[in-house]
Amino acid sequence: MSYTKSVIESVIAKTPGEKEFHQALDEVFSSLATIVDNEPAYKDASILERMAIPERIITFRVPWLDDNNRVQVNTAYRVQFSSSIGPYKGGMRFHPSVNASILKFLGFEQIFKNALSGLPIGGGKGGADFDPKGKSDAEVMRFCQSLMTELHKYLGPDEDVPAGDIGVGAREIGYMYGQYKRIVGRYEGFITGKGIAYGGSLGRTEATGFGLLYLTRDMLANANNGFDGKTVSISGSGNVAIHAAIKAMEFGAKVVTMSDSGGFIHDPDGIDLAAIREIKEVRRERINEYLRYRPSAKYTAGTGVWNIPCDIALPCATQNELHEADALTLAANGCIAVAEGANMPCTKAAVHVFQEKGIMFAPGKAANAGGVSVSALEMSQNSARLAWTFDEVDSKLQGIMSGIFTQMNEAAKEYNMAGNFVAGANIAGFKKVATAMLAQGVV
Ligand code: NDP
Repeated sequence: MSYTKSVIESVIAKTPGEKEFHQALDEVFSSLATIVDNEPAYKDASILERMAIPERIITFRVPWLDDNNRVQVNTAYRVQFSSSIGPYKGGMRFHPSVNASILKFLGFEQIFKNALSGLPIGGGKGGADFDPKGKSDAEVMRFCQSLMTELHKYLGPDEDVPAGDIGVGAREIGYMYGQYKRIVGRYEGFITGKGIAYGGSLGRTEATGFGLLYLTRDMLANANNGFDGKTVSISGSGNVAIHAAIKAMEFGAKVVTMSDSGGFIHDPDGIDLAAIREIKEVRRERINEYLRYRPSAKYTAGTGVWNIPCDIALPCATQNELHEADALTLAANGCIAVAEGANMPCTKAAVHVFQEKGIMFAPGKAANAGGVSVSALEMSQNSARLAWTFDEVDSKLQGIMSGIFTQMNEAAKEYNMAGNFVAGANIAGFKKVATAMLAQGVV
């Protein structure tokens, strides 16, 4: 059995039940087989075995008082996966589905994503099975303060720098920042996604969605195509989805769908983004409220967003939201490109369909790397006590996304897999991390 395959099998056997982590591990390591199995140095140094185990996982309880003075408790985690090329870096997710497997998959993906960004940041991820939905601001604050009272011991600008993710936006980051500063007594950039008033970077809120569009633009341009006049389908209606929609429209495309965990809206005239932002960012309501603004649009409860015909699909909600049957429907409807705004939104079988049918596909670790990249720019600004303009940050972001596209495109070509951006992104990210690990010895 090949080295790659034997490591995949042994890690899966040793981590029963961690299905999301197994999926991510299999996706990355399988695509590396051609280079890893032909280079004995990787096997001799047990590079894959070491990469597959987090350097550390911190698991802790988070007790807090709700508005009725009842004691609530959640489980929180920080997966410090790899510090080979820089301090651990990756978001915090607050969602009832959070568990060690999901955070291990996200932390593992983050290693390669961060390497691709070209910036000196390692891979990590964290979160809690806490649901901010339906909680008062005071409850969210007490939860964040309790979480940070424990977690601060493991964080720092040169150790581990979290950020936002699902369920963790400006409000949650602010509360976590305040508590950290109060405990350590230092004003330092230990978290990114901060408000502009206290050390945040202009352009960070927009970065993941905008970056997704910059990279997809490069991928389309590489095939002599573009966004202008195209119909775009987006899932999700959170940070990534909203900013992807803004940039898609700016590029001349028409965005016809958005969704949340309750269902999706289809507006053939093009989504009214002001309405979406009012519903999601101001009122924190469900997406079916959109019909109050646009009665001509259609709301469908549950899944099915990928049944709507589109030229370009941008899944921006959550993992495993686009299945094989969805991929076949997209292909039948003439979709030409798919780029992952979310982390691992497409199942392995769905990705296989895209590759079989010649649909351009950009994996999340490349396509959504804009967020972590601007987070790293926020770290630089904090260290240098500087604040760049929006245009400065946005132009650096465009450069970083172009660099990522070039790396994955060139790596795929170098290994005779031209157009296979999954393999290209994995190979380029892996080589950087593996080179650092080999240089640093057995650690
Ligand atoms: P938000 O919390 O802002 O938005 C998440 C969106 O996805 C919401 O519309 C939410 O609907 C929907 N959603 C969440 N869970 C599910 C589910 N199980 N089924 C259907 N819809 C769901 O998160 P972000 O926009 O920040 O993140 C979206 C994705 O992008 C995630 O995969 C995240 O890891 C990834 N990502 C985010 C980055 C960032 O900078 N924010 C950076 C890189 C990747 P509802 O409100 O009903 O839950």
